[in-house]
Amino acid sequence: MKRRDLITALAAMMASGAALGGRSSIDKLVDIARQLPSSAPAPALFIGHGSPIYAITPNPFADSWYKLGLHLPRPSAIVVISAHWLTPGQTMLTAMSRPETIHDFYGFPKALHNKQYPAPGSPALAEGIADAIRQPDIWLDESEWGLDHGTWSVLSQMYPVPNIPVIQLSLDTTQSHQFHFNLGRKLRFLRQRGVMIIGSGNLVHNLRETRRDNKIYGWAEEFDRRIAGFLRDGNWQAAVDFRELGKLSYLAHPTEEHYLPLLYTLGAAREQDQLHFFNEALVEGAISMRSLLLS
Ligand code: ZN
Repeated sequence: MKRRDLITALAAMMASGAALGGRSSIDKLVDIARQLPSSAPAPALFIGHGSPIYAITPNPFADSWYKLGLHLPRPSAIVVISAHWLTPGQTMLTAMSRPETIHDFYGFPKALHNKQYPAPGSPALAEGIADAIRQPDIWLDESEWGLDHGTWSVLSQMYPVPNIPVIQLSLDTTQSHQFHFNLGRKLRFLRQRGVMIIGSGNLVHNLRETRRDNKIYGWAEEFDRRIAGFLRDGNWQAAVDFRELGKLSYLAHPTEEHYLPLLYTLGAAREQDQLHFFNEALVEGAISMRSLLLS
């Protein structure tokens, strides 16, 4: 889909207001966010980031990100597991004090390519996480990566003033689905320390099948609905074992990198967390923006 088509589709979506299940789901989310005491553990989120253009174009998804940032208790730091940092064979954490804003896309407006999100990192926190986890070995990255668009396109809307330390954790794509869930579980302790965990991907993500007319594929809707059902039922193992859905799962995710961040978010869940969906919409035929808050 060309950028202009995307913006037209977004405008239509905003005009209809129906794509996100009406305003009520966002308003409800704001109420939930407002009611969280500042002493509560930081939430874990999975955020469908979609196109990088959402970082600079008015759109209903970024509106939700902004409202969440406004109303959730302010985290002490944020750890993001982005679909866009793949390190086959090892797991890495950014450990620089000033992570670079990475523009890992092409063909978008200059304003997007020039956009900066100069949030600080936290080498001390990165080191503390690597020490606490032990298994697997977590490698500290002091110069290679930074913040990719899976992170900054969302955070620049959620926390427009970039003064909360942000760390990225990479995806070792050679590992099993259970490994990613288990590593999410090992990150859970951070929430007690006020560190927000964000998995940033998309619940359905098939770029080869995106379409201009914005008609949603039946298989995209079905996969989105099936996974949402597993999550509503608290059946997270079924979400971990999503390939058991067979062909449907391969249509929704020909590759896995946009799904795997969800497993970290689920792993980081606490027994007493409530699950709230937001941005429940499919766009461009084959992308689900469905997101979730666990708090
Ligand atoms: Zn992406």
